[in-house]
Amino acid sequence: MRRKGFLIVLSGPSGAGKNSVMNAVFPTIPNLKYSISVTTRPPRKGEVEGVDYFFRTEEEFDELIRQDKLLEYASFVGYRYGTPKDFVLEQIAEGNTVIMDIDIHGASQIREKMPEAVFVFLLPPTREELQKRLTLRGSEAEEAIKQRLQKSAEELKNIIHYDYFIINDQLSKAAEQLRHIIMSEWSRVSRVDIEELQKLWKGWGNS
Ligand code: 5GP
Repeated sequence: MRRKGFLIVLSGPSGAGKNSVMNAVFPTIPNLKYSISVTTRPPRKGEVEGVDYFFRTEEEFDELIRQDKLLEYASFVGYRYGTPKDFVLEQIAEGNTVIMDIDIHGASQIREKMPEAVFVFLLPPTREELQKRLTLRGSEAEEAIKQRLQKSAEELKNIIHYDYFIINDQLSKAAEQLRHIIMSEWSRVSRVDIEELQKLWKGWGNS
């Protein structure tokens, strides 16, 4: 049966493991689409244009804002990040579930525009573990790691605005939790196409 498409917003400190958890969930859920963000941050080693991000200049990012092409956007430790609007709206209209990895400021903009979205916060088990993961990742300089750790304290305060939280102390468990959240949300009566349901059960109750 057709369902109404919806949006899953995944936030959490940089280094919480959002990508790993999402990647583990993708093969297990049909119709789950990833919203690829636009960023002014330079690519990290191994990151691919159009797969991890759309990498754009500051001028190009300004132009996207000017043309109202972004559903939300925010700055994060010196760079800008935004969600392409058309992709998300098209996928939802087609009945798909869209998942996006965005920061707390972007999430609050989505909350205003799309209150029916589902908000999930992913946490590393401890601050020490977060620091360890950021250092091991080796993609940021020491100063950037410090900034990202500071930012995580601010982000944590916002957890009260989210619907669900997951502690990522073991990847497979965290992925399973996210999968359950998505499947449960998918089963909400409010996401069912009631007309289709009525057609399917036409006459039921009259006999
Ligand atoms: P990173 O540089 O580690 O890839 O991402 C830094 C932060 O930017 C993460 O917290 C991530 O969730 C956030 N981010 C990624 N894409 C977007 C986006 O499209 N919009 C917003 N607001 N934040 C994003």
